[in-house]
Amino acid sequence: MARNLILPKSSLGLLKPSKTASGIPALFLSEEEVRKGSAPFKLALVAKCSYGRPPLYVVKESIKQKFHISVEPVVTILDQRHLLIRFGTERDFLSVWLSDNMKIQGYLLRFLRWSPDFKPGIEPPIAPVWVTLPGLPLYLFNEDYLASVGGLLGRMLKIDAPTIQGTRTEFAKICIEINIREKLHEKFWLGTPGGGGRWQKVTYEKIPKYCDHCLKFGHYELECRSKKEHESINPLKDLSMEGRVRVADVSAPDQGEKQNSGRVGKSTKA
Ligand SMILES: [Zn+2]
Repeated sequence: MARNLILPKSSLGLLKPSKTASGIPALFLSEEEVRKGSAPFKLALVAKCSYGRPPLYVVKESIKQKFHISVEPVVTILDQRHLLIRFGTERDFLSVWLSDNMKIQGYLLRFLRWSPDFKPGIEPPIAPVWVTLPGLPLYLFNEDYLASVGGLLGRMLKIDAPTIQGTRTEFAKICIEINIREKLHEKFWLGTPGGGGRWQKVTYEKIPKYCDHCLKFGHYELECRSKKEHESINPLKDLSMEGRVRVADVSAPDQGEKQNSGRVGKSTKA
């Protein structure tokens, strides 16, 4: 196994033991502690296999071949529908993540970035997106300045080859990591010496669909089947949607909402 893929023996320091209000042993982690503990998984992807999967060694070999992986990745199981793939280099990690999905032996694997709050069933709204910058001044066509532009919009991941080689100059193209649920910037200000400047337009190539209702990629909330089913088994909610709730009924949808959220909580755990 590549050296950087062996989990560190580490000297992160011990976590402070504590207790819940009812006296049960507990650990309460700070953001910093979670961040430090997550560092070895910085280059990890979750492969979502909703409809079954091939054996682990087949997944590993297929990924190695298709993406010309330079350092042997580590493929392990998270649960029935999710695998963890840890990569040894940023290049290997990015080429698989940017491909979004892959079919192996007829099974579809979708790649999501692992994050510390990853839970099966909830997909963090983080995705790589290609961004074009039409008419970007040529003096910004270099790695450091483009990385600074990427940093304004999200987390810089990659610059496309024609941009970095200067073989296409009508626009620059970079890939950034964005949070789909946050507001995307359509422009930024480019100040020039002497106090002048101009707006630089930003266009996002293909923002993946994300559902705010079931917290998954693949569809918008408006198209969400699970939301429609949820509403059809909750007639009180239907009434409120049609604007037929009288003042005296106002508390009713709230109760319906609470009962429902309880049910959703249980089914997620099951
Ligand atoms: Zn949905």
